[in-house]
Amino acid sequence: MITLWDEDLYWSELLRQEGVSFRSGSRLSGRDVVILNCEPAELYAQRIWQHIESGGGLLAAGADAVEVLLELTPVARRLRWITPGGDPPLFRNVGIVDTETRGTFLPGANAGVTDSRAKAILATPAGRGFCILLPFEVPRVLSNAASGPKQFPAETPRFPYDTVARVSRGEVRRLVANCLRFLLGHKDLPYVHLAAVPGGLSPHGDCPQNSTFAFRVDTDFGPRRDLEAVARLADRVGMKFSWYVNIGAHRAHLDLFADLARQGHDIQLHCMRHTVYPDYKRNLENFRQGKDAMVEAGIVPVGVVAPFGEWNPNLNRALEELGFEYSSEFCLAYDDLPFRPVVDGRLSKVLQVPVHPICLGRLVAARQVARRWLPISAR
Ligand SMILES: [Zn+2]
Repeated sequence: MITLWDEDLYWSELLRQEGVSFRSGSRLSGRDVVILNCEPAELYAQRIWQHIESGGGLLAAGADAVEVLLELTPVARRLRWITPGGDPPLFRNVGIVDTETRGTFLPGANAGVTDSRAKAILATPAGRGFCILLPFEVPRVLSNAASGPKQFPAETPRFPYDTVARVSRGEVRRLVANCLRFLLGHKDLPYVHLAAVPGGLSPHGDCPQNSTFAFRVDTDFGPRRDLEAVARLADRVGMKFSWYVNIGAHRAHLDLFADLARQGHDIQLHCMRHTVYPDYKRNLENFRQGKDAMVEAGIVPVGVVAPFGEWNPNLNRALEELGFEYSSEFCLAYDDLPFRPVVDGRLSKVLQVPVHPICLGRLVAARQVARRWLPISAR
């Protein structure tokens, strides 16, 4: 069992994304891994140290662990990113971790490299237990909702880029998951969590689906013939797409989308006007008008992808007010599992569904050429 020391929405939502079982609080007995996410009082610090010495695992930001590991001397330092590397293998499936935070330099660190070229993470045995100390506080990184331009390294003449979230939430989650996996493994325990792909277990106990692929189309300003060509493509490859309709541009073509909905395509809302506003009122009006027009055409949308992948708390409030179940904006998160953003100190009612932010248009801009078509077996 995993203990989250102090109640925290960012931490608990990350653990729910992973689908692991955990409890909050300061109980230690029977808890194999302790996530120490605040500086404990001296008495508790001693108890935690004894717990580790007798075989427990500790995951903490270096700054929170100084009372537990008295020889630890973290030094405050700006931490923009961490690159993978080192031993133990904490960077399985983890790329560059954009943190953009006030972090710590940890003397003796032995895994990952920071933007100031120091080792990033301290992973060390302690008594019969094991400690992994991160150079950043997870909530401090996850609470950063800023966005900016980012290039994505690829084998293209130019790197594709888009304006995306400044911090890489998915990489933080995968790094944390690897830490938990390692700490449990140190006690010969498995990392038990819910599968991230749909589908139950087969009679043989294995998962029938290793991954899923979904294709999303933002209709933007495409002419009707292009929309019809994309619909024919979907037919040809035997797939149903998720379409997010720009009502302002495509109101006259709602018959086409109603028809696609009847064929089993997933038809949702992009916007009325192709913009995201900083304020609540205009966002509410924009998406209310879009939703009303769709409902009139017999399509009831439950999801939104906002123009340009932009996100802000006032957009989120508007989507909550309009009763949307989910939205998807890569300026908040990308390459990650769905989660509920923290808004006004609570979890949003609107689920955030991250995607990969590089679309076909961005690949064209990067001068990528189609070298071959892969066979599509999902018919
Ligand atoms: Zn758009």
